[in-house]
Amino acid sequence: MRVKKSEALYEAASKLLVGGVDSPVRAYLAVGGTPPFIRNAKGARIYDEDGNQYLDYVCSWGALILGSSHPKVVSAIQRRLPKGTSYGAPTRLETELARLVTSAFPSIEKLRFVNSGTEATMSAIRLARAYTNREKVLKFEGCYHGHVDSLLVKGGSGMATLSTPDSAGVTEAEAENTLIAPYNDLEVVEACFESSEEEIAAVIVEPIAGNMGLIPPRPGFLEGLRSITRKHRSLLIFDEVISGFRVALGGAQQLYRIEADLTCLGKIIGGGLPVGAYGGRGEIMKLVAPEGPVYQAGTLAGNPLAMTAGITTIEELLKKGFYEALERTSLEFQNGLLKAAKTERVPLRLNRVGSMVGLFFTDQEVFDYSSAKSTDTGRYSAFFHFMLDSGIYLPPSPFETIFLSSAHTAADVTRTVRAAAQAFGKTTK
Ligand code: PMP
Repeated sequence: MRVKKSEALYEAASKLLVGGVDSPVRAYLAVGGTPPFIRNAKGARIYDEDGNQYLDYVCSWGALILGSSHPKVVSAIQRRLPKGTSYGAPTRLETELARLVTSAFPSIEKLRFVNSGTEATMSAIRLARAYTNREKVLKFEGCYHGHVDSLLVKGGSGMATLSTPDSAGVTEAEAENTLIAPYNDLEVVEACFESSEEEIAAVIVEPIAGNMGLIPPRPGFLEGLRSITRKHRSLLIFDEVISGFRVALGGAQQLYRIEADLTCLGKIIGGGLPVGAYGGRGEIMKLVAPEGPVYQAGTLAGNPLAMTAGITTIEELLKKGFYEALERTSLEFQNGLLKAAKTERVPLRLNRVGSMVGLFFTDQEVFDYSSAKSTDTGRYSAFFHFMLDSGIYLPPSPFETIFLSSAHTAADVTRTVRAAAQAFGKTTK
Protein backbone atom coordinates (compact mmCIF):
# COMPACT_ATOMS: atom_id res chain seq x y z
CA MET A 1 0.00 0.00 0.00
CA ARG A 2 1.37 3.41 -0.97
CA VAL A 3 1.12 6.01 1.81
CA LYS A 4 3.61 8.76 0.92
CA LYS A 5 1.10 11.39 -0.15
CA SER A 6 -1.27 10.71 2.73
CA GLU A 7 1.62 10.99 5.16
CA ALA A 8 2.69 14.34 3.71
CA LEU A 9 -0.90 15.61 3.69
CA TYR A 10 -1.44 14.48 7.27
CA GLU A 11 1.68 16.31 8.35
CA ALA A 12 0.56 19.49 6.57
CA ALA A 13 -2.96 19.15 7.98
CA SER A 14 -1.65 18.66 11.50
CA LYS A 15 0.00 22.07 11.41
CA LEU A 16 -3.30 23.78 10.74
CA LEU A 17 -6.10 21.49 11.87
CA VAL A 18 -6.31 20.12 15.37
CA GLY A 19 -4.93 16.60 15.19
CA GLY A 20 -4.94 16.98 11.41
CA VAL A 21 -8.65 16.21 11.25
CA ASP A 22 -12.10 17.69 11.81
CA SER A 23 -13.50 14.79 13.80
CA PRO A 24 -11.29 12.81 16.23
CA VAL A 25 -11.88 9.22 15.09
CA ARG A 26 -10.53 10.11 11.64
CA ALA A 27 -7.04 10.49 13.16
CA TYR A 28 -6.69 6.69 13.63
CA LEU A 29 -5.62 6.96 17.28
CA ALA A 30 -7.53 3.79 18.14
CA VAL A 31 -5.76 1.67 15.54
CA GLY A 32 -2.52 3.58 14.92
CA GLY A 33 -1.01 4.61 11.60
CA THR A 34 -1.73 7.43 9.19
CA PRO A 35 -5.26 7.91 7.86
CA PRO A 36 -5.49 7.71 4.08
CA PHE A 37 -6.45 11.10 2.64
CA ILE A 38 -9.39 10.54 0.34
CA ARG A 39 -9.45 11.98 -3.14
CA ASN A 40 -12.73 10.66 -4.51
CA ALA A 41 -15.34 7.95 -4.15
CA LYS A 42 -17.82 6.13 -6.33
CA GLY A 43 -20.33 3.51 -5.27
CA ALA A 44 -18.75 1.17 -2.70
CA ARG A 45 -15.22 2.30 -3.58
CA ILE A 46 -13.08 5.10 -2.23
CA TYR A 47 -9.72 6.20 -3.59
CA ASP A 48 -6.94 7.90 -1.70
CA GLU A 49 -4.36 10.46 -2.78
CA ASP A 50 -1.72 7.76 -3.24
CA GLY A 51 -3.93 5.97 -5.75
CA ASN A 52 -4.99 3.12 -3.42
CA GLN A 53 -8.50 1.79 -3.93
CA TYR A 54 -10.63 0.49 -1.07
CA LEU A 55 -14.01 -1.13 -0.56
CA ASP A 56 -15.71 1.28 1.79
CA TYR A 57 -17.43 -0.14 4.88
CA VAL A 58 -17.58 3.19 6.70
CA CYS A 59 -19.99 4.82 4.22
CA SER A 60 -19.43 8.24 5.83
CA TRP A 61 -20.39 6.72 9.18
CA GLY A 62 -23.64 5.37 7.83
CA ALA A 63 -24.83 8.37 5.83
CA LEU A 64 -24.22 6.78 2.43
CA ILE A 65 -26.77 3.99 2.24
CA LEU A 66 -26.67 4.21 -1.58
CA GLY A 67 -22.87 4.32 -1.65
CA SER A 68 -20.89 7.37 -2.77
CA SER A 69 -21.94 9.73 -5.54
CA HIS A 70 -25.05 7.82 -6.55
CA PRO A 71 -25.91 9.02 -10.08
CA LYS A 72 -29.45 10.13 -9.12
CA VAL A 73 -28.26 12.05 -6.07
CA VAL A 74 -25.43 13.68 -8.00
CA SER A 75 -27.67 14.80 -10.83
CA ALA A 76 -30.38 16.08 -8.47
CA ILE A 77 -27.77 18.20 -6.65
CA GLN A 78 -26.35 19.38 -9.98
CA ARG A 79 -29.79 20.45 -11.19
CA ARG A 80 -30.40 22.31 -7.95
CA LEU A 81 -26.99 23.97 -7.64
CA PRO A 82 -27.38 26.84 -10.14
CA LYS A 83 -30.58 27.89 -8.39
CA GLY A 84 -28.73 28.88 -5.21
CA THR A 85 -27.24 27.07 -2.24
CA SER A 86 -29.06 28.76 0.63
CA TYR A 87 -31.71 31.41 0.95
CA GLY A 88 -32.38 31.56 4.67
CA ALA A 89 -36.04 31.45 3.67
CA PRO A 90 -38.58 28.63 3.35
CA THR A 91 -38.64 26.38 0.29
CA ARG A 92 -41.04 23.67 -0.88
CA LEU A 93 -38.19 21.15 -0.56
CA GLU A 94 -38.36 21.19 3.25
CA THR A 95 -42.04 20.25 3.18
CA GLU A 96 -41.32 17.56 0.61
CA LEU A 97 -38.60 15.95 2.74
CA ALA A 98 -40.73 16.40 5.88
CA ARG A 99 -43.54 14.52 4.12
CA LEU A 100 -41.22 11.62 3.31
CA VAL A 101 -39.93 11.50 6.90
CA THR A 102 -43.36 11.68 8.55
CA SER A 103 -44.73 8.99 6.21
CA ALA A 104 -41.90 6.66 7.25
CA PHE A 105 -42.18 7.49 10.98
CA PRO A 106 -45.79 7.45 12.24
CA SER A 107 -44.59 8.82 15.61
CA ILE A 108 -43.39 12.03 13.94
CA GLU A 109 -46.22 14.43 13.23
CA LYS A 110 -44.05 17.49 12.98
CA LEU A 111 -40.34 18.06 12.73
CA ARG A 112 -37.58 20.63 12.50
CA PHE A 113 -34.55 20.29 10.23
CA VAL A 114 -31.14 21.19 11.66
CA ASN A 115 -27.58 20.73 10.37
CA SER A 116 -26.24 17.80 12.36
CA GLY A 117 -27.17 14.93 14.62
CA THR A 118 -25.69 16.82 17.56
CA GLU A 119 -28.06 19.71 17.02
CA ALA A 120 -30.96 17.28 16.79
CA THR A 121 -30.27 15.61 20.14
CA MET A 122 -29.37 18.87 21.87
CA SER A 123 -32.65 20.42 20.73
CA ALA A 124 -34.69 17.33 21.59
CA ILE A 125 -33.32 17.40 25.15
CA ARG A 126 -34.15 21.09 25.52
CA LEU A 127 -37.64 20.43 24.23
CA ALA A 128 -38.17 17.44 26.53
CA ARG A 129 -37.14 19.55 29.53
CA ALA A 130 -39.54 22.31 28.53
CA TYR A 131 -42.42 19.90 27.89
CA THR A 132 -42.08 18.00 31.16
CA ASN A 133 -40.82 20.90 33.25
CA ARG A 134 -38.12 18.54 34.60
CA GLU A 135 -34.34 18.74 34.35
CA LYS A 136 -32.79 15.30 34.48
CA VAL A 137 -32.03 13.10 31.49
CA LEU A 138 -31.18 9.43 31.49
CA LYS A 139 -28.76 8.05 28.91
CA PHE A 140 -26.97 4.76 28.43
CA GLU A 141 -23.31 3.99 28.85
CA GLY A 142 -21.63 3.64 25.47
CA CYS A 143 -24.39 5.39 23.54
CA TYR A 144 -23.22 8.50 21.70
CA HIS A 145 -25.59 11.31 20.88
CA GLY A 146 -23.19 13.89 19.48
CA HIS A 147 -21.07 16.33 21.47
CA VAL A 148 -23.87 17.87 23.51
CA ASP A 149 -22.54 18.96 26.93
CA SER A 150 -25.20 17.20 28.97
CA LEU A 151 -24.70 13.98 26.98
CA LEU A 152 -20.89 13.91 27.17
CA VAL A 153 -20.92 12.25 30.54
CA LYS A 154 -19.87 8.87 31.84
CA GLY A 155 -20.92 6.73 34.73
CA GLY A 156 -19.09 7.56 37.94
CA SER A 157 -17.49 4.86 40.00
CA GLY A 158 -19.75 2.91 42.28
CA MET A 159 -23.32 4.00 41.84
CA ALA A 160 -24.78 3.69 38.40
CA THR A 161 -26.80 6.82 38.91
CA LEU A 162 -23.91 9.20 39.52
CA SER A 163 -22.18 10.61 36.51
CA THR A 164 -19.13 12.73 35.76
CA PRO A 165 -18.06 14.79 32.73
CA ASP A 166 -16.59 12.70 29.88
CA SER A 167 -14.89 15.71 28.32
CA ALA A 168 -12.93 18.61 29.68
CA GLY A 169 -15.08 21.73 29.58
CA VAL A 170 -18.30 19.97 30.53
CA THR A 171 -19.41 21.31 33.89
CA GLU A 172 -20.21 19.17 36.92
CA ALA A 173 -23.63 20.82 36.91
CA GLU A 174 -24.34 19.49 33.41
CA ALA A 175 -23.15 16.03 34.40
CA GLU A 176 -25.22 16.02 37.56
CA ASN A 177 -28.41 16.30 35.58
CA THR A 178 -27.57 13.27 33.48
CA LEU A 179 -28.14 9.79 34.84
CA ILE A 180 -26.38 6.81 33.30
CA ALA A 181 -27.51 3.23 33.03
CA PRO A 182 -25.89 0.24 31.32
CA TYR A 183 -27.35 -0.53 27.88
CA ASN A 184 -29.89 -3.35 27.89
CA ASP A 185 -30.36 -3.07 31.67
CA LEU A 186 -33.94 -2.23 32.62
CA GLU A 187 -33.40 -2.80 36.33
CA VAL A 188 -31.04 0.15 36.64
CA VAL A 189 -33.47 2.30 34.63
CA GLU A 190 -36.26 1.35 37.04
CA ALA A 191 -34.02 2.15 39.99
CA CYS A 192 -33.11 5.55 38.54
CA PHE A 193 -36.78 6.41 38.16
CA GLU A 194 -37.64 5.15 41.63
CA SER A 195 -34.92 7.20 43.28
CA SER A 196 -35.25 10.44 41.35
CA GLU A 197 -38.73 11.53 42.37
CA GLU A 198 -40.27 12.27 39.01
CA GLU A 199 -37.43 14.56 37.96
CA ILE A 200 -36.46 12.73 34.76
CA ALA A 201 -37.53 14.68 31.68
CA ALA A 202 -36.49 12.03 29.19
CA VAL A 203 -34.69 8.81 28.45
CA ILE A 204 -32.53 9.13 25.35
CA VAL A 205 -31.36 5.95 23.69
CA GLU A 206 -29.88 4.64 20.48
CA PRO A 207 -32.52 1.95 19.89
CA ILE A 208 -29.79 0.03 18.07
CA ALA A 209 -26.51 1.05 19.63
CA GLY A 210 -23.94 1.89 16.98
CA ASN A 211 -21.24 3.72 18.91
CA MET A 212 -19.73 0.87 20.92
CA GLY A 213 -19.50 -1.40 17.93
CA LEU A 214 -22.96 -2.61 17.05
CA ILE A 215 -25.16 -3.74 19.91
CA PRO A 216 -28.80 -4.61 19.31
CA PRO A 217 -31.43 -4.08 21.98
CA ARG A 218 -32.25 -7.28 23.83
CA PRO A 219 -35.84 -8.47 23.42
CA GLY A 220 -38.00 -6.43 25.80
CA PHE A 221 -35.47 -3.65 26.41
CA LEU A 222 -37.09 -1.00 24.23
CA GLU A 223 -40.59 -2.13 25.26
CA GLY A 224 -39.49 -1.77 28.87
CA LEU A 225 -38.20 1.75 28.27
CA ARG A 226 -41.51 2.60 26.61
CA SER A 227 -43.57 1.44 29.54
CA ILE A 228 -41.33 2.87 32.28
CA THR A 229 -41.23 6.31 30.66
CA ARG A 230 -44.98 6.24 30.13
CA LYS A 231 -45.58 5.26 33.74
CA HIS A 232 -43.47 8.16 35.00
CA ARG A 233 -44.71 10.66 32.39
CA SER A 234 -41.20 11.08 31.07
CA LEU A 235 -40.43 11.29 27.33
CA LEU A 236 -38.75 8.54 25.36
CA ILE A 237 -36.29 9.94 22.82
CA PHE A 238 -35.03 7.57 20.14
CA ASP A 239 -31.77 8.74 18.65
CA GLU A 240 -32.15 7.25 15.19
CA VAL A 241 -29.40 9.36 13.64
CA ILE A 242 -27.83 6.08 12.49
CA SER A 243 -30.75 3.64 12.45
CA GLY A 244 -33.34 5.92 10.82
CA PHE A 245 -33.90 4.81 7.19
CA ARG A 246 -30.98 2.37 7.69
CA VAL A 247 -32.54 -0.77 9.21
CA ALA A 248 -35.93 -0.03 7.64
CA LEU A 249 -37.59 3.08 6.22
CA GLY A 250 -39.11 3.77 9.63
CA GLY A 251 -35.89 2.86 11.46
CA ALA A 252 -35.81 0.89 14.70
CA GLN A 253 -39.34 2.05 15.49
CA GLN A 254 -40.66 0.14 12.50
CA LEU A 255 -38.43 -2.85 13.12
CA TYR A 256 -39.37 -3.26 16.78
CA ARG A 257 -42.87 -1.72 16.55
CA ILE A 258 -42.32 0.90 19.21
CA GLU A 259 -43.20 4.56 19.00
CA ALA A 260 -40.90 7.13 20.57
CA ASP A 261 -42.15 10.50 21.81
CA LEU A 262 -39.31 12.33 20.09
CA THR A 263 -37.03 11.06 17.33
CA CYS A 264 -33.64 12.39 16.26
CA LEU A 265 -32.50 11.83 12.71
CA GLY A 266 -29.45 12.74 10.60
CA LYS A 267 -27.02 11.05 8.20
CA ILE A 268 -29.19 9.26 5.58
CA ILE A 269 -31.87 11.98 5.42
CA GLY A 270 -29.20 14.35 4.10
CA GLY A 271 -28.04 11.96 1.37
CA GLY A 272 -24.39 12.72 2.23
CA LEU A 273 -24.82 16.44 2.92
CA PRO A 274 -24.97 17.97 6.41
CA VAL A 275 -28.37 17.49 8.01
CA GLY A 276 -30.22 16.54 11.16
CA ALA A 277 -33.83 16.60 12.31
CA TYR A 278 -35.89 16.12 15.41
CA GLY A 279 -39.60 15.53 15.56
CA GLY A 280 -42.51 13.97 17.36
CA ARG A 281 -46.12 14.51 18.31
CA GLY A 282 -47.55 17.89 17.34
CA GLU A 283 -48.52 18.53 20.93
CA ILE A 284 -44.81 18.41 21.95
CA MET A 285 -43.34 20.02 18.84
CA LYS A 286 -45.61 23.04 19.12
CA LEU A 287 -43.46 24.21 22.03
CA VAL A 288 -40.63 24.98 19.57
CA ALA A 289 -40.20 28.58 18.31
CA PRO A 290 -41.91 30.26 16.54
CA GLU A 291 -45.00 28.33 17.74
CA GLY A 292 -43.75 28.06 21.31
CA PRO A 293 -41.20 29.19 23.90
CA VAL A 294 -38.33 26.71 23.20
CA TYR A 295 -35.80 28.62 21.13
CA GLN A 296 -33.96 26.83 18.36
CA ALA A 297 -32.85 28.16 14.98
CA GLY A 298 -30.36 27.64 12.12
CA THR A 299 -28.90 29.81 9.34
CA LEU A 300 -28.39 26.90 6.93
CA ALA A 301 -31.13 24.66 8.36
CA GLY A 302 -33.22 22.99 5.67
CA ASN A 303 -30.85 24.25 2.96
CA PRO A 304 -31.93 23.30 -0.56
CA LEU A 305 -28.93 21.14 -1.42
CA ALA A 306 -29.21 18.91 1.64
CA MET A 307 -32.99 18.69 1.22
CA THR A 308 -32.57 17.69 -2.44
CA ALA A 309 -29.97 15.03 -1.63
CA GLY A 310 -32.20 13.69 1.15
CA ILE A 311 -35.34 13.56 -0.97
CA THR A 312 -33.55 11.82 -3.83
CA THR A 313 -31.98 9.29 -1.47
CA ILE A 314 -35.26 8.42 0.22
CA GLU A 315 -36.96 8.04 -3.17
CA GLU A 316 -34.43 5.30 -3.92
CA LEU A 317 -35.09 3.63 -0.57
CA LEU A 318 -38.81 3.57 -1.36
CA LYS A 319 -38.24 1.36 -4.39
CA LYS A 320 -39.55 -2.15 -4.02
CA GLY A 321 -37.04 -4.64 -2.67
CA PHE A 322 -34.43 -2.08 -1.59
CA TYR A 323 -34.07 -3.29 1.99
CA GLU A 324 -34.47 -6.95 1.04
CA ALA A 325 -31.49 -6.69 -1.32
CA LEU A 326 -29.40 -4.90 1.29
CA GLU A 327 -30.32 -7.58 3.82
CA ARG A 328 -29.19 -10.34 1.43
CA THR A 329 -25.75 -8.75 0.93
CA SER A 330 -25.40 -8.11 4.66
CA LEU A 331 -26.34 -11.69 5.52
CA GLU A 332 -23.71 -12.99 3.07
CA PHE A 333 -21.19 -10.71 4.76
CA GLN A 334 -22.14 -12.12 8.16
CA ASN A 335 -22.12 -15.76 7.05
CA GLY A 336 -18.84 -15.38 5.19
CA LEU A 337 -17.01 -13.75 8.07
CA LEU A 338 -18.32 -16.17 10.68
CA LYS A 339 -17.38 -19.15 8.57
CA ALA A 340 -13.88 -17.79 7.95
CA ALA A 341 -13.42 -17.09 11.66
CA LYS A 342 -14.55 -20.60 12.54
CA THR A 343 -12.16 -22.16 10.04
CA GLU A 344 -9.28 -20.13 11.44
CA ARG A 345 -10.47 -20.73 15.03
CA VAL A 346 -10.71 -17.06 15.75
CA PRO A 347 -13.05 -16.11 18.60
CA LEU A 348 -15.28 -13.67 16.73
CA ARG A 349 -18.66 -12.32 17.80
CA LEU A 350 -20.60 -10.65 15.05
CA ASN A 351 -23.62 -8.51 15.93
CA ARG A 352 -25.82 -7.43 13.05
CA VAL A 353 -29.05 -5.58 12.45
CA GLY A 354 -29.67 -5.21 8.70
CA SER A 355 -26.71 -3.47 7.11
CA MET A 356 -25.15 -2.48 10.47
CA VAL A 357 -22.46 -4.87 11.72
CA GLY A 358 -20.25 -5.03 14.80
CA LEU A 359 -17.16 -7.26 14.91
CA PHE A 360 -15.76 -8.18 18.29
CA PHE A 361 -12.80 -10.41 19.01
CA THR A 362 -14.16 -12.37 21.95
CA ASP A 363 -16.02 -15.58 22.67
CA GLN A 364 -18.48 -13.82 24.98
CA GLU A 365 -21.79 -12.19 24.13
CA VAL A 366 -21.42 -8.41 23.64
CA PHE A 367 -24.52 -6.64 24.89
CA ASP A 368 -23.38 -3.47 26.66
CA TYR A 369 -20.44 -1.11 27.07
CA SER A 370 -18.45 -3.16 29.54
CA SER A 371 -18.75 -6.34 27.49
CA ALA A 372 -17.69 -4.35 24.40
CA LYS A 373 -14.76 -2.86 26.31
CA SER A 374 -13.52 -6.26 27.42
CA THR A 375 -13.06 -7.55 23.86
CA ASP A 376 -9.63 -7.84 22.26
CA THR A 377 -9.13 -4.36 20.80
CA GLY A 378 -5.47 -4.98 19.95
CA ARG A 379 -6.56 -7.79 17.71
CA TYR A 380 -9.10 -5.53 16.04
CA SER A 381 -6.29 -3.05 15.24
CA ALA A 382 -4.15 -5.78 13.68
CA PHE A 383 -7.16 -7.05 11.71
CA PHE A 384 -8.04 -3.51 10.64
CA HIS A 385 -4.56 -2.86 9.24
CA PHE A 386 -4.36 -6.17 7.43
CA MET A 387 -7.73 -5.41 5.82
CA LEU A 388 -6.72 -1.86 4.92
CA ASP A 389 -3.59 -3.18 3.22
CA SER A 390 -5.86 -5.59 1.32
CA GLY A 391 -8.02 -2.72 0.08
CA ILE A 392 -10.83 -3.05 2.61
CA TYR A 393 -11.68 0.13 4.50
CA LEU A 394 -13.21 -0.72 7.88
CA PRO A 395 -13.99 1.72 10.70
CA PRO A 396 -10.72 2.70 12.40
CA SER A 397 -11.97 1.68 15.86
CA PRO A 398 -13.51 -1.46 17.32
CA PHE A 399 -16.23 0.76 18.82
CA GLU A 400 -17.71 1.90 15.53
CA THR A 401 -20.19 0.21 13.23
CA ILE A 402 -19.46 -1.38 9.87
CA PHE A 403 -21.98 -0.25 7.23
CA LEU A 404 -22.93 -1.86 3.95
CA SER A 405 -24.62 0.07 1.18
CA SER A 406 -26.73 -0.86 -1.82
CA ALA A 407 -23.59 -0.32 -3.91
CA HIS A 408 -21.86 -3.31 -2.29
CA THR A 409 -22.20 -6.35 -4.55
CA ALA A 410 -22.02 -10.06 -3.79
CA ALA A 411 -18.60 -10.04 -5.49
CA ASP A 412 -17.45 -7.24 -3.16
CA VAL A 413 -18.54 -9.30 -0.17
CA THR A 414 -16.73 -12.37 -1.48
CA ARG A 415 -13.55 -10.32 -1.87
CA THR A 416 -13.95 -8.96 1.65
CA VAL A 417 -14.50 -12.40 3.15
CA ARG A 418 -11.44 -13.74 1.35
CA ALA A 419 -9.30 -10.93 2.75
CA ALA A 420 -10.76 -11.49 6.22
CA ALA A 421 -9.95 -15.21 6.08
CA GLN A 422 -6.32 -14.34 5.39
CA ALA A 423 -6.36 -11.67 8.08
CA PHE A 424 -7.75 -14.12 10.63
CA GLY A 425 -4.96 -16.53 9.78
CA LYS A 426 -2.23 -13.90 10.02
CA THR A 427 -3.36 -11.82 12.95
CA THR A 428 -3.70 -14.52 15.57
CA LYS A 429 -2.07 -13.46 18.79
N1 PMP B 1 -26.41 10.36 17.41
C1 PMP B 1 -25.83 9.25 16.96
C2 PMP B 1 -26.48 7.93 17.28
C3 PMP B 1 -24.65 9.30 16.23
O1 PMP B 1 -24.08 8.17 15.82
C4 PMP B 1 -24.08 10.56 15.95
C5 PMP B 1 -22.80 10.70 15.16
N2 PMP B 1 -22.23 9.60 14.67
C6 PMP B 1 -24.73 11.71 16.42
C7 PMP B 1 -25.89 11.57 17.14
C8 PMP B 1 -24.17 13.06 16.16
O2 PMP B 1 -24.34 13.39 14.82
P1 PMP B 1 -23.38 14.48 14.13
O3 PMP B 1 -22.03 13.88 14.05
O4 PMP B 1 -24.03 14.71 12.80
O5 PMP B 1 -23.43 15.69 14.99
